[in-house]
Amino acid sequence: MENKIIPYGRQDITEEDIKAVIETLQSDFLTQGPKVKEFEDKFAASVDAKYAVAVNNATAGLHIGVMSLGLKEGDRVITTPITFAASANCARFVGAEVWFADIDRDTYLLSLVKTRELIESKPKGFFKGIIPVDFGGLPIDLEAFRALANEHNLWILEDACHAPGGYFLDSKNQKQFCGNGVYADAAVFSFHPVKHIACGEGGMVTTNSEEVYKKLLLLRSHGITKENMSENQGGWFYEMQTLGFNYRITDFQAALGISQLARNEKGVIKRNEIAQKYKDAFEGKFKVQILPDNFLNAHHLFIIEVEDRKGLYDYLHSNKIYAQIHYIPVHQLPYYKNIGYNEVNLSNSEDYYSKCISLPMFPTLTAEEQDFVIEKIISFHSKK
Ligand SMILES: *Cc1c(COP(=O)(O)O)cnc(C)c1O
Repeated sequence: MENKIIPYGRQDITEEDIKAVIETLQSDFLTQGPKVKEFEDKFAASVDAKYAVAVNNATAGLHIGVMSLGLKEGDRVITTPITFAASANCARFVGAEVWFADIDRDTYLLSLVKTRELIESKPKGFFKGIIPVDFGGLPIDLEAFRALANEHNLWILEDACHAPGGYFLDSKNQKQFCGNGVYADAAVFSFHPVKHIACGEGGMVTTNSEEVYKKLLLLRSHGITKENMSENQGGWFYEMQTLGFNYRITDFQAALGISQLARNEKGVIKRNEIAQKYKDAFEGKFKVQILPDNFLNAHHLFIIEVEDRKGLYDYLHSNKIYAQIHYIPVHQLPYYKNIGYNEVNLSNSEDYYSKCISLPMFPTLTAEEQDFVIEKIISFHSKK
């Protein structure tokens, strides 16, 4: 029987989404109009953050994110090797050094212990910030990272690209949504189609700091502002106060984002149902990402660890199940290898990478499709 390709992630575009985009295409503003602000306000509300700045992609958001936190040439940041390259690249864009600390072998997230060890192995002031990632959709314990960051006067930029809708309960039993800006100084989300909310391309930076918010606005749009306009000046007045970029999102992408955002909460619930079905089917067979108590995984990914990873990958692909690997450790990519200023042991990350495989995980995955995926994995496993 010929089955359809089942990817690891897939966007869901509804008639309502299409209508929202068409309406915006027929309106007065294709860009710099009201939909961008509406998207920002609704997104900020959805994650409980004070401010949100929409951008053309998360990589741009990470770039102006680190700049708004004051990162400069020669400074140093810490991030995880198990992430998409952009989490590290943003520091390189401004000429800063990227140091990697190892992951926790159970959660696959940047290890608090290893991060502390790295910081304390260096002189005071060596590092400027930490870029932790809510990898796979599992929120990182930012309350604990904040305490560490405060001890060493570091900022935190949360890469929340995998985790809109994820949260944890902190020590005061308060629900802390990824990107809410309570423990991190700012956070970044992606609206690439494999992520929860699809805009084609798009991103969002959230923060609770007015100062960071103003810098983000300036950097997103050429460093130009009208804020110092007085009555004596003509309407054309503007100032370029700093060297910024054009990292704006369009209004029709924002309209799509607004429409998609409205379904995200339901999508996260569905992702968790899919995850539970995988966990039940694979119980005792494969290691999966451990969910700490009081954490909700937003489940961008569902990962299992297998010994014959290449074998399973090839077998699934031959059955049109397009499982994927997340990620080749960033420190092993040639660009970072060539820089070579990292002397840290990253054996957890390397061991994880040798076994990980991400299975199809998206809200419109049907029960039949998931059954087919599970059946193929179990049958491959039992042949071993
Ligand atoms: C997707 C992703 C990015 C980059 O997002 P873009 O919107 O494609 O620029 C950055 N970090 C992580 C962890 C991602 O998954």
